Amino acid sequence: LREIPAVKIELPNGLTVDQPVGLFINNKFVDSAAGGRIEVIDPATEKHLCDVVEAREEDIDVAVAAARAAFHPDAPWRKFSSAQRGRCLSLLADKVYEHLELLASVETVDNGKSITLARGDVRSAAECIRYYGGWADKEYGQTIETDTTRFAYTRHEPIGVCAQVIPWNFPILMFAWKIAPALACGNTVVLKTAEQTPLSALMLTSFIEECGFPAGVINVVSGYGKHAGAALSAHMDVDKIAFTGSTGVGRMIMRAAAASNLKMCTLELGGKSPNIVFDDADLDKAVAWTNYGIFYNQGQVCCAGSRLYVQEGIYDEFVKRMVAKAKTLKVGNPFDEDTFQGAQVSKAQYERILSYIDLGLEHGAKLEIGGKRHGDRGYFIEPTILSNVTEEMAVGKEEIFGPVVAIIKFKTIEEAIRRANNTSFGLASGVHTRSIDTALQVSNALQAGTVWVNCYNVLHHQIPFGGYKESGIGRELGSYGLSNYTQTKAVHINTGMNLP
Ligand code: NAD
Repeated sequence: LREIPAVKIELPNGLTVDQPVGLFINNKFVDSAAGGRIEVIDPATEKHLCDVVEAREEDIDVAVAAARAAFHPDAPWRKFSSAQRGRCLSLLADKVYEHLELLASVETVDNGKSITLARGDVRSAAECIRYYGGWADKEYGQTIETDTTRFAYTRHEPIGVCAQVIPWNFPILMFAWKIAPALACGNTVVLKTAEQTPLSALMLTSFIEECGFPAGVINVVSGYGKHAGAALSAHMDVDKIAFTGSTGVGRMIMRAAAASNLKMCTLELGGKSPNIVFDDADLDKAVAWTNYGIFYNQGQVCCAGSRLYVQEGIYDEFVKRMVAKAKTLKVGNPFDEDTFQGAQVSKAQYERILSYIDLGLEHGAKLEIGGKRHGDRGYFIEPTILSNVTEEMAVGKEEIFGPVVAIIKFKTIEEAIRRANNTSFGLASGVHTRSIDTALQVSNALQAGTVWVNCYNVLHHQIPFGGYKESGIGRELGSYGLSNYTQTKAVHINTGMNLP
């Protein structure tokens, strides 16, 4: 395949970057067979930034073949010691730190999030890569004592070629969450970025070769879900697929995995997470955390605390303070250092969010603040608070994925638990109280993969993350994340067993 040179892009903060745009296969940026392109738009200015190469089914075949060859028992990657794999990941983490400002700037222009947030994402990506680099030589099987007639041990072997499909809300961070544990465990990877945000992963990929990863170990393609994504999930030579995105697409991926070669499947899907504030909470802190819980990253967070349950004793005061807090959030140019809320990722998402707000009002929700476009250029939406919401309304049960919170009043702890669990999702939840009894009772009762007590939206690479119910299958991060990328083999050795 023809190599494709990087293109120069001038960023709004004055940086000029050499942006790779090809498909990254076998450590080279190359063109696709059909020569298709995807337009990349800056959501804050609506300006065209560049075109990236679009992978179609035939390009996915090439990328999968590269990953398969790199996984061959005689290939260099398979001969690496586990410590060598860890060293490659550690070098990659160094590169991420070294180019933090570049990567954060690319992320901001591509995604619309604020530069301060993007820097945090890049730092977290580096830490995640370094963390899993540390696991590479510490992840192994067990010896299992049964009796003297047999010696048994397990091996934690890599699965093989892993396909990974990621969303647009945290492009570089999702890239790190996906590739790092897969590589630590010795797999090879074909990762598809989201069509809205291909740039930061391609930029980071340009450092792969100098970190010592052999050709074909990491392959990164830009492409649409219905072509490249579907081809990966249905591919007969892919051993595992890991996906983050909407529940609807998660279902399609699992179906395709089952209908093809029954490849292993882990899913991190959507949510409509409850965040519960009790009468006895520290009000100032609860307002600050619940605000951050919904408006952080423009509300484009799978675990956003989008259903906000407030106990009746503090309800009026709480809503007043939430509105006052929302007024202080600076929305606008994501490259301004004091911007909190940047642009939504795309026109489609922006329109979807506004139509949800209209629907909420139609169904009887009360608009406390926001509800409209911010400014007259770019996909900005005002922080929006809706009250008088019930779980029957679309805004009370469906994932909006925008800066829109639905406030719901409750009376008792039992009612809060029942209503919080009244959802098909189960990704995350929050509890705000000064009572340890309430905190523990509610944490135990909530059907969610994460419970935040007196905080919200705080993730850490050492702590597992994933969903109950229709929010997903499997856990990412921490030592738990390693099991997504290993097969366990049991070896029984006869040291004196007779036939049964
Ligand atoms: P999506 O689920 O369609 O996209 C996520 C990824 O899946 C992208 O890389 C996309 O190209 C790919 N994809 C799409 N169709 C596919 C298919 N048939 N086979 C394989 N891959 C496919 O999400 P979206 O359309 O960009 O956003 C829609 C909604 O999804 C959002 O409003 C939000 O509710 C939800 N979402 C959730 C997350 C999350 O982190 N849980 C992230 C992004 C979006």
